[in-house]
Amino acid sequence: MEEKKLTGRFYDIQGFSVHDGPGIRNTLFLKGCPLRCPWCHSPESQEFKVELNYMEIKCSGIEKCGKCIAACPEGAICKGTVKQSLTDESHYTVIAVDRDKCTECFKCTEVCSPKALYKCGTEYTVDEIIERVKKDIPFYKRSGGGVTISGGECLWQPQFTLEVLKRCKAEGIHTAVDTTGYVDWKFLEPVIPYTDLFLYDLKKMDSELHKRVIGVPNELIMENAKKIAAAGGKFQIRIPVIPVFNDSVKDFEAFGKFILELGDSVEVVQLLPYHNLGTVKWERLGRKGPVLEADPPSEELMQARKKQLEDMGLKVMIH
Ligand code: SF4
Ligand code: SF4
Repeated sequence: MEEKKLTGRFYDIQGFSVHDGPGIRNTLFLKGCPLRCPWCHSPESQEFKVELNYMEIKCSGIEKCGKCIAACPEGAICKGTVKQSLTDESHYTVIAVDRDKCTECFKCTEVCSPKALYKCGTEYTVDEIIERVKKDIPFYKRSGGGVTISGGECLWQPQFTLEVLKRCKAEGIHTAVDTTGYVDWKFLEPVIPYTDLFLYDLKKMDSELHKRVIGVPNELIMENAKKIAAAGGKFQIRIPVIPVFNDSVKDFEAFGKFILELGDSVEVVQLLPYHNLGTVKWERLGRKGPVLEADPPSEELMQARKKQLEDMGLKVMIH
């Protein structure tokens, strides 16, 4: 009997990425996350299950098509709103999905040629991923880049992540793991020897508020960071700067104090200003949008928090 190949479940793969570690990278986005950040701009990363996405702008309208209505066994697809064509004066009616009736059988995705309805969540084997990322080795070499495994929480698919890291290292590729840190140590420890850099998120130092807002406490995250540092791992600490939640002087005093405890293992601290560009992705999944609705932090505030950490002796960059 043929052995079943190890696969990972992805919601995206981004080539030529320049925001997820040094140089030009392939970033592998795995599905499934234990956290529920209210500002999440990748809601498709949260659930491990494959989900139905509907991108309304791609629907050609039921007058011309309507195939999905006939294909849906649950009667979950109906007439949506009337839109004006972008190219002439005509109008057309897009569809709407009743998520309460939808069983995510994906039959509609099979008949939707413009891919307005599509599955979010694709399985790839380790071999398929390695073949793909190997093609960009010349770019990694020239730019000091490599491969970043991200999510969601990539260590919620621990075997797959470990195997991809091992194979990347065997090919001489620089590796980064973007993690929430909210992972059992038994899954984190084995990846350390194959990870050149941990992109490690810190969101709030007060554990009770961390739990109240994000859904989980932060002790495990702090503890794992210290263990990685003790084991010789290297960090790029990432702080999403979220209005009111974690942008005060007091918050940054606490961040700085903890980061200093990690010593030389921290190469740089990256501040990621909150933005509200992900709302449309929530609509595509038929979910209620992010709970947080706020303006992005001002440039002055970002510079002030950067300086605050620099004054504590840390190297800081703003994304
Ligand atoms: S099959 Fe696709 S393009 Fe056709 S009506 Fe349905 S969503 Fe629109
Ligand atoms: S995925 Fe949902 S909307 Fe699409 S055919 Fe199945 S039940 Fe209908």
